[in-house]
Amino acid sequence: MSMLKESCKRKLSLKRNDLIQVMVGKDKGKIGKVMRVDAEDMRVLVEGVNIVTRHVKGKQNAPGEIRKKESAIHYANVLLYCSACVRGVRHRRLRHVDADNKTVVQRQCVRCKNMIVQA
Ligand SMILES: [Zn+2]
Repeated sequence: MSMLKESCKRKLSLKRNDLIQVMVGKDKGKIGKVMRVDAEDMRVLVEGVNIVTRHVKGKQNAPGEIRKKESAIHYANVLLYCSACVRGVRHRRLRHVDADNKTVVQRQCVRCKNMIVQA
């Protein structure tokens, strides 16, 4: 891995099962669930987003087929979905200590200031 990549590597603020909205590209506007986060490549795999068609060549005992599959998109092209704003929003992470003295990170929508709570 190059030095450059190492130095700009940081934790993505998205995690698995987050609901996001795609903000640019051919799937702009689509809302989907994050299936996988690739922190190394700063990409996320989102359910139903960026579907690519793979032509799989047949083998001796398996026929060829056309397979449609999600492909990861760059995290900069998606935003966390805020149900109050009904759109993808930027968010900030707030850290506080709860009653059990545990640090809790909450994500706040920058538009409506509501905490973004997802199942
Ligand atoms: Zn909001």
